[in-house]
Parts: sequence; C-alpha cells; structure tokens
Amino acid sequence: MTHAAAGPISQILSAASAAAGAEDAPAVAQTLADLPPGSPGAVDALLDASLVPDEPAFFAALAASVQLPFDPTPAVPHDPSPRSILPARLALRHRILATRPDLAPLTLLTYDPFDLEARQMAGQTFDEPFTWKLAPRSFIMEALRDSYGVGAARFDELVSGKADAEPDALRQEVTVLEDNEEATIMSFVNQIFSEAIRERATDIHIEPLENDLRIRYRVDGSLNEVAVPPNVRVLQNALVSRLKIMAHLDIAERRLPQDGRINLELDGRRYDVRIATIPSVNGESVSLRLLGRERLDLSGLGMDDHLEARIRSLLALPNGIILVTGPTGCGKSSTLYTFLRELNTRERRIVTIEDPVENKLDGVVQIAVKPEINLTFAAGLRSILRGDPNVIMVGEMRDLETTEIAIRGALTGHLVFSTLHTNDAVGGISRLLDMGIEPFLIASSVRAFLAQRLVRRLCPACRQPAPPELYPRQYLESLGFPPDRKGSILVPAGCRDCRGTGYRGRMAIIEVCAITPEMQDLITARAPASAMRAKAIAEGMIPMREYGWAKVAAGETTIDEVIAVTAAGEQIT
Ligand SMILES: [Zn+2]
Repeated sequence: MTHAAAGPISQILSAASAAAGAEDAPAVAQTLADLPPGSPGAVDALLDASLVPDEPAFFAALAASVQLPFDPTPAVPHDPSPRSILPARLALRHRILATRPDLAPLTLLTYDPFDLEARQMAGQTFDEPFTWKLAPRSFIMEALRDSYGVGAARFDELVSGKADAEPDALRQEVTVLEDNEEATIMSFVNQIFSEAIRERATDIHIEPLENDLRIRYRVDGSLNEVAVPPNVRVLQNALVSRLKIMAHLDIAERRLPQDGRINLELDGRRYDVRIATIPSVNGESVSLRLLGRERLDLSGLGMDDHLEARIRSLLALPNGIILVTGPTGCGKSSTLYTFLRELNTRERRIVTIEDPVENKLDGVVQIAVKPEINLTFAAGLRSILRGDPNVIMVGEMRDLETTEIAIRGALTGHLVFSTLHTNDAVGGISRLLDMGIEPFLIASSVRAFLAQRLVRRLCPACRQPAPPELYPRQYLESLGFPPDRKGSILVPAGCRDCRGTGYRGRMAIIEVCAITPEMQDLITARAPASAMRAKAIAEGMIPMREYGWAKVAAGETTIDEVIAVTAAGEQIT
C-alpha cells in the first residue's frame, strides 16, 4: 500500500516534501495514498499532517515542478481589492486570491496547483486572460482573511457536513440545534458583531437572496459586502433565530416585521443594538443598528476656529432654540449629543426625548417616545417642561404641536435643541413658517439654524496628491473651488489601514445661520429665502460647500465627497 497507487501528483508532492526537509518519506507516501483517487486536497493533507517543515521551500519546489511562477510573499494591492475582483464565496471556497498588482494583468494566487475545480471556476468567472501564481498556504489564508474580513475558520466549522443538506427543508421550520451547534452559532453571531465593531460599522444587514445569504456592514456611510462563506445559507434560520432570541422577539413569527433591542456584551464592553426583522420572499432579513457608534466630540469634529467659536457662543446661551437641519443620516443627532456632552455638568439638568435613544449620556434623563402608549414628542416635552430642566433635547420637530411647546419652553427660559428635516440652514426658517408658526415666534425664540452633512475623511496613511489633469482649472472655477489651492487637493488610494477604501471615518461640514436682530426683521417681514441667505452670509455664515472646500484644501476630504453632499450656492430649496 505505498507507491503502487501513487500517480504523478503524488510523485511531485513527495519530491517537494523531501526538498522542504520532510524526513518521514513513508508517512508522506501514506498520507497521499490514503486520499481517495482523484480527490483534491493533497496539498492540504500534507500540510495538515505537519509533514512539511519548511513551507516556502515546499511551495518553491512544487512551483518548479509544475512550472508556475512562485512568490513567497506576493504583493496584494488594496486597489483594486481582491474583494472587488472575485466575490467572497468563490475566493473562500477555492482559496484563491485575485490580484492586479500595478495594473498588470489579472493574477490568481493559489497554493494548490492541482485544484481542477478552482481552475474551472476561474475559466468561467473571468472574461479576461489571467495567470496563475503559487504562494504559500499560510500566506494565502492570511491574505484572504485580511481581504475578506472573515472569521473563515468558524464558517468552515459550521457549514461542514451541511453542504448537502436540503436548504429548503431547513428553511421551512425553525431549525432545532444540538447543544454544541447552538454554542457554535452563538460564537458565529459574536464573530459577526465583533468583526463589525472592528470595522467601525454602524449597521449590519443580513439579507437572504434567492440562492445565497448576504451579510453587509455599513462603514462610514457606505455598504460593504462581507464574509459570504460558501453554504452559509444553510445556517440562515439558525442565525436569524439566534438574533431574535437575543432580542426577545417571537422566533415562530416569521411573516410579520418585528423590532427590538439587543444588549450586547462583547470583550467587556456593552453595546446597544437595535434589531428589525423584515419578511421577504427569500426569508427573513435582519437589520442591526449599532447605536452610538459614531462619536463626534467638539474638537474631534475638526471644526475651524471660526466655526468652533460660533458654536461655543451658541452653547453658552441661557435660553432659546438651536436647530440642526439636514437629511436623514447626516449626523444631526451625533452633533446634538456632542453639544449635550459639552453642556453636561453637575449644575445643569438635562432632559431629552428621543426616537430612539441612540446614545446613553451619564447624568442625563433620557426618554424614548412610545406612540403606542401616547408618549409622543409633544406629550413627553410637556411633562419635561413641568420638571423645569435647564437644557432640553427634542429628537425632532416633526409637528406643529411639538414645535409650539418647544418655543414656549425656549421663551420661558430653557435652552432647547432639536432637529429639522431641511436642506440648508435658511431652509429651516421656511420650514417652521410652513408648519404654521408665527414669524415673530420664530424670530424671538430661535437663536440659530445649523445645517450639516457628513463627508468621509481621507485615510491619512494613503491619501496622495491628485494628478494635475484630474481637476482642470475651469472645472474647479465652476465649482467655486479656489483654483490657487488646486495643488493641495488630495485623492484616496487605499491601504491596509482603511481596508482599501481610501477613507477612514467621517466628519461634519456645517453652516451656521445665527438669528441676529437684522435676521429677525427679515423673518418677521417674511422675506424670501434668498434674501435671508444673503444676509446670513453677509453676517458671517460660511456656506457648507465653501466650508467643504476649505476641508479639501486642508487635505482632509475630497472634491467628490463635498459635491456629493452639498448643493451649489445658487440652488436654494
Ligand atoms: Zn488608507
């Protein structure tokens, strides 16, 4: 039972093992002979049996025999990332790293030159020519984990033996798990959370597709697909059930949307997670929001001196309303939390009413609205005012009633923070007028309107000067970007620090329209928005876009990021 069954592959592998210092030739031969004929994984079998002392030498010898180029530590560029060239499920199943170093033709890194299935997959997947290159297994596994952000080992453990299970049968009923399997699912769920936290994700989406299960993280506002191991779909129900149990939801109810919260404890830290399940034709999808993850403090907002001084003077006011405006997801509540954190001292009593409570603040009384028991913004605010706090935060001024109570609060000596859903600072005034608030009430209660957007911050480790031809002078002039600052424009590159995206974190760009006596007159006279905007600028408001250009010139963000979130100066909505 030794060399009789050994074909050419076994001979090549035996020779490579010997070249790599394998002393136990009979054990090598036996390991290879034990593999079923034609089975893949001979390379894995030898390495798993620890029969190869010097891995790089083994692969160098193997490469020479099969006439493939070999590199012990090939370059794996982040741009384009392997993830963007080959989807996770193919890369992880076949353990192939697709790279395009220095814009060279496509190169596929493998450690198993005998894996015919992988070769077949590559032929079917890529329309362009590619070359194979051999690299050590340890290198490829680490690079895969790095590129795909996957706890690959855990997936393997979970799906092994389930690959052939009938997915439809598993999908029908709640999967009953064995004890040890239950524990494995729990650790799998923890891995999804800890990976999300490591990647600074704010949301996790678990979405069943027709033939797959997709997991996506939202990082710095962009969705990134992560970790789709082969066959993870068979775990779909177990995974969703586990999450529902953690949130005390009804695991048997799969036809109606449900929502709840998970108090997650991970590595000694507590996280507040909001969960929502949505039934879809392919099964239940789950959205998880990690609350309070994006934390901006006043100095960390990266405000310039002018803006910071304006905001500090607003926060020093004893009463009045300060409104932060912007579309959904522009970080309005993060900014309000920043303000409250600045004001949160022993002498001040701060009470909030929010939907939901996104961040818990020490020493602050926070109330979540519950419309089902008639605890609305208006009802909550009314009872808050009876307790006579110094500072009040109202999550949103959604309706006339809430807004009127807030104004009354401001006029009776409270400092009130809230948000409005409008495009720019001056738009906040029109919005309140449209709600039916009397102009003199706005003029006498509101101290300032802030508008803000979030832009991604360039990764400091890899940002680089923009090629001179990228932004022609004329184009910059048309945008209102000062052309003499052209030389300071930077662009994203992508590196290990930023997982190849070129960006790391976000920052706010803010405009502040202060309600001065002149502005009060314009509001009372119901002046057109354009006149109010001109007045605001004359009185020192730096429009968001212009503020954004200063951040571009400082190398902190890009032209494209600013364009994407701000309108040109002329457009007023
Ligand atoms: Zn980077």
